Amino acid sequence: MDSSSATLKALNARIVDCNLCPRLRAHCAEVARVRRRAYADWEYWGRPVPSFGDPDARALALGLAPGAHGSNRTGRPFTGDGSGDFLYPVLFEAGFASQPQATSRNDGMRLTGLWINSVARCAPPGNKPTTEELRNCAPWLDEELLLLRDLRVVVCLGRIAFDGLLAHAQRTGKLNSRAGYTFSHGAEYTLPSGLQVITSFHPSLQNTNTGRLTRPMFLAVFLRARKLAGLPPA
Ligand code: SF4
Repeated sequence: MDSSSATLKALNARIVDCNLCPRLRAHCAEVARVRRRAYADWEYWGRPVPSFGDPDARALALGLAPGAHGSNRTGRPFTGDGSGDFLYPVLFEAGFASQPQATSRNDGMRLTGLWINSVARCAPPGNKPTTEELRNCAPWLDEELLLLRDLRVVVCLGRIAFDGLLAHAQRTGKLNSRAGYTFSHGAEYTLPSGLQVITSFHPSLQNTNTGRLTRPMFLAVFLRARKLAGLPPA
């Protein structure tokens, strides 16, 4: 294991032990205790969800927060719920994922060139972390982005992820003003640091079931990320 991989692994271990948001920790534990009937046999993860992917990633998919019965159950981002069922087949087709289905953290999935995390690492009630909870979780993103040394492109999945990335850039002195940075599906920006950003609707069921986000739209985002990252075509 090289040093970057080792430090990202150590960071993940610290994230999993985080207790900064009592409301979220209680919610995740309660969801894990009660469980959904369909997953009654599962031992839910029930903790902060560690990031997942290739330590040498040039692209990052930045999400909002774990799903209560998805990654809060399986312990891996976007794994085991409707959002993941929409995301991973696209990542597979775009050449980032080794397989289209993500069912558990032991399903053999490998990512190449891509890292996945979120601006909140614990499942929030109603999928809505508070401003304070997002602020609590922000230092994890700051640390992680320092360690992803080959990163060139961030795909922000939803407006809150985009806001989180811009807030990170401001905190770390890489961006003076957010003026001119507005969220819309498929928008592209280059931050003063050179980091490229693509914005996408979040692959929530609310967006995918209504056709607001279609598979061709989502695939185009990740194929574009691949190109901007300087990765060979899928
Ligand atoms: S949301 Fe982030 S800061 Fe809050 S408890 Fe979970 S890992 Fe910690």
